[in-house]
Amino acid sequence: MQIANDVVVSIEYTLTDDQGNVIDSSAGGEPLAYLHGAGNIIPGLEAALEGKVVGDAFKVSIAPADGYGEKNDDMLQQVPREMFQGVDVIEAGMQFHAQTDHGMQVITVSAVEGDLVTVDGNHPLAGQNLHFDVKVLEVRAPSEEELEHGHVHGAGGHHH
Ligand code: ZN
Repeated sequence: MQIANDVVVSIEYTLTDDQGNVIDSSAGGEPLAYLHGAGNIIPGLEAALEGKVVGDAFKVSIAPADGYGEKNDDMLQQVPREMFQGVDVIEAGMQFHAQTDHGMQVITVSAVEGDLVTVDGNHPLAGQNLHFDVKVLEVRAPSEEELEHGHVHGAGGHHH
């Protein structure tokens, strides 16, 4: 079975940056399972997987436009320190999950000046080239429920 829209795909992957540092990897954990064509994964990786079969292994480099987007300065915002209730020390580089108009997002503290905290709502990988080393482990038909939900259930997918 070839990878095409509406099939469930499980992959092993290692993601590195331009310097070769490993950013993320499925090694030692569960493979990543996703529903192809449903926008579960970044567009560049989804496109590279199209037509592949079990056992295929490949490397692909993805520009920000097909990854997590370019960095957008409009996503930088200054907020008062008291927004971070219950956090004793706030430092640049800290990351928080925040409920926003676009759903749950990771925000990164980019600067702290007195009582003002600059937060960056860009995805932590925005503006970065992404280098994936991928192996296709499984390709299968989805269950009706998975198709309906638009994501994969069970190992490597959603648990709910
Ligand atoms: Zn579901």
